[in-house]
Amino acid sequence: MNAPDTPFSLDAAIAAAADALEPQVIAWRRDIHQNPELGNREVRTAKLVAEHLRRLGFDSVQEKVAHTGVVGVLKGGRPGPVVALRADMDALPVAEEVDVPFKSTVRTEWNGQQCGVMHACGHDAHTAILMGVAELLAGIRERIPGTVKFVFQPAEETPPVGEEGGAKMMVEQGALKNPDVGAIFGLHVTSIYPTGLIGYRSGPLLASADKFQVFVRGTQTHAAMPWRGIDPIVVGSQIVLGLQTIVSRRMNITQEPSVVTVGMFQGGVRNNIIPDEVKMEGTIRAFDEGQRDEIQEHVKRISEMIAQSGGAQAKVHIHRGYPVTVNHAGLTEWSVPTLARMAGEANVAVIDKVCGAEDFAYFQKEVPGFFYFLGCTARDRDASRAAPNHSPRFFVDEDCLKLGVKSLSALAVDWLAANAA
Ligand SMILES: [Zn+2]
Ligand SMILES: [Zn+2]
Repeated sequence: MNAPDTPFSLDAAIAAAADALEPQVIAWRRDIHQNPELGNREVRTAKLVAEHLRRLGFDSVQEKVAHTGVVGVLKGGRPGPVVALRADMDALPVAEEVDVPFKSTVRTEWNGQQCGVMHACGHDAHTAILMGVAELLAGIRERIPGTVKFVFQPAEETPPVGEEGGAKMMVEQGALKNPDVGAIFGLHVTSIYPTGLIGYRSGPLLASADKFQVFVRGTQTHAAMPWRGIDPIVVGSQIVLGLQTIVSRRMNITQEPSVVTVGMFQGGVRNNIIPDEVKMEGTIRAFDEGQRDEIQEHVKRISEMIAQSGGAQAKVHIHRGYPVTVNHAGLTEWSVPTLARMAGEANVAVIDKVCGAEDFAYFQKEVPGFFYFLGCTARDRDASRAAPNHSPRFFVDEDCLKLGVKSLSALAVDWLAANAA
């Protein structure tokens, strides 16, 4: 029997294979970029992934998980635990403005509206990277001590209205079971960091995201005689200001930051009528599940009590969205040396928290998980001025893909080696 590989002994194999696979990964990324699909509609992308995994001789390839997800299992040649790697596959209802030969011209319907479709969050890069990792690890499978589960996830940017989907649904359908996963890794490209840089953070990394709606009911009257009715516009305005005292006056900001934003305020039809009702919508972002619940309570109470004080009535609906994305402290600390070997010590940095949300959080609620950022703005450009993710001008420097392949491959192999009995 051969002695088991130490992680370092696979570094050379990983680096050589990542070099060789780079043109193919770029080609996949361009193909997926040119053919983007919205959440729960990733039919073509899922087929591409599933056929690729089957061609590589995977032990199992399960399709239609959470509508359009694909879960592939690759057993290594040595016994050991199970690690999962995740990529999201969905695009956004954004019309692309980047002038590349593989620009998306796809148009479709989203929640009843016509729209362009673009991989404006870089999930095309994530899918191509994980396809590359699949091929790389399949090529060295005899030397892998354990099993790698590949989770290609739909609808990270939320499914269409009225549908379920995404990571939550994949977990519910057993994506992390049979074989049972011991840890999960995932990455996200970001234009705010240069190519070659990996950004990470232990503990809370991305915020929870909850939507709230406030309906303020007054009594319609002539705008010249406000005393004859109840003005929901004035009451609603007081509520907007009241909600701004939650973070500034009620939350312990030494623990975690948070955000309460009213992003929509609708009411009234003309200058000389006080309307019956106004409607507000907003978002709550938090980095602690306790604070998240507390903020929701404050939103409800402040809206209702201010309305009551003005003689109006407020109804509050809170729609809980993604939880806080929390990197497991032990796993994060453990991952850093592997990332440093792949990216170079100087290219791995602790980054600030991000107020966006990620449904990778649902996987992390089940098993220890580590999620990190991969810079994707070319070194000769100013990353601080690059178009952000979700912009129609979002641009991925394809030189970043190889580090994505190497880092995920090495994390998987290292974790299996470290946790093999
Ligand atoms: Zn996004
Ligand atoms: Zn994303």
